[in-house]
Amino acid sequence: MLLCTVYRRFRGDYIVIANAPRRVSPGLRFIKQNVPEVEILEYPMWREYVARLREGWDVVGFSFYQNEIGEIRRMVAEARRHGVREIWAGNYGALDYSIPSLVDRVFIGPAEDEIAQVFGYRVRPEDIQHPVMMVHFSLIPGIRDATFGLLYTAHGCPYKCSFCQTPVFERHRFTINLESIERVLRYYKKLGVTYLFPMDELFGIYPEFTDKLTRLFARYKFRWWAQSRASLFVRYLDTWHERGLRIPSVGVESMLQTSLDGMNKRQNTEEIYEFCRRSSEKHGMYRIGYFMTGHEDMTAEQTLEDAARLKQAGFDAHAVSVITPFPQTPLWDKLSSRYGIFDHDYSHYKLQHLVWNHPHISPAQMHYLQNTIIKLLVRPIDFIYKGLSRLIWGGLRQDGAGFIWRNLIKGPIAALFINDRKQVFF
Ligand code: SF4
Repeated sequence: MLLCTVYRRFRGDYIVIANAPRRVSPGLRFIKQNVPEVEILEYPMWREYVARLREGWDVVGFSFYQNEIGEIRRMVAEARRHGVREIWAGNYGALDYSIPSLVDRVFIGPAEDEIAQVFGYRVRPEDIQHPVMMVHFSLIPGIRDATFGLLYTAHGCPYKCSFCQTPVFERHRFTINLESIERVLRYYKKLGVTYLFPMDELFGIYPEFTDKLTRLFARYKFRWWAQSRASLFVRYLDTWHERGLRIPSVGVESMLQTSLDGMNKRQNTEEIYEFCRRSSEKHGMYRIGYFMTGHEDMTAEQTLEDAARLKQAGFDAHAVSVITPFPQTPLWDKLSSRYGIFDHDYSHYKLQHLVWNHPHISPAQMHYLQNTIIKLLVRPIDFIYKGLSRLIWGGLRQDGAGFIWRNLIKGPIAALFINDRKQVFF
């Protein structure tokens, strides 16, 4: 059984998220850690993929995202040409309506147990073991500054934001057992990794579990990045900051309450302002706000005003995306029935294209608007003056010499020697 990600078209063809090229597949690492009988292939070049197909497989499975479906179709055709008996599909891309007719079996949500059953045993949620997975991070492109130890500690989310696929993909909510997380933390520590990035969509939603988890982070002296809601950050800010939280990122989406309500975000703009106020007092904390353009109730001018409100709120950095309907979400149903989705080119589903008929903004206007807002919110000068000063001066005030050791000596040196592509399993 061979499980693959999408192929690379050229050597450096990795998706870069927040200056970190994604060169490993967390989903496949989890499966291999828990079902060692499978083989995994992460971001191969096309010729590597074809060479592996020639080895002969009963099953070839693909883990992919919506924007990768075009390439996956080519990989599926090639696998069938090589006589592979069964083709499987998993990860968020498998939610696309076209996938069931393309493959023989579709997996929605974590697949460890279902795959283990093929080999005659079970992996229940409480038994799932956490794998090793890391990414290199570059503050300045081309210079490797740090390696982040990736974690994924909790599945599912109780909220139902209309644009988000998590509620439909992660139907069962559970946490990963702490012993296996601690084993991975010890391994990261041994390598010299200083920062963690738990990729949980909503960090902190299980209070007891998160308490134990963040105590572990603190015991091993990690600094960490987390993504969550403003209200959760506000509630736990003091404790989490004490335990090493340095990069909180918040899904703001909009600073207009009617837009937030329209997408069922269940977030109050006052919570965002409070988060900004409270977190600005925390030394060494670098706050990122995620923003969306293309709300159906906004014109281009109103979108610009919304972006200006976000800038005023006081985050240190912003990420900007265009509202994109993804399959099986309430947003998909609403936009397709009310306005129509006209662009079905999978490569445009990277949160940077307008793929539906917006009532006030054309695709060309959106392109211009997106660039304008990025210029407003993602200015290198802001990063140098505000971000770096919060990161460096704030970090020095908070952690003293430990900051220099961790960020300028130990982290960068360790990053030079770590091979993030190496597959390590316990
Ligand atoms: S956007 Fe975040 S809070 Fe909303 S449903 Fe998705 S994971 Fe949950």
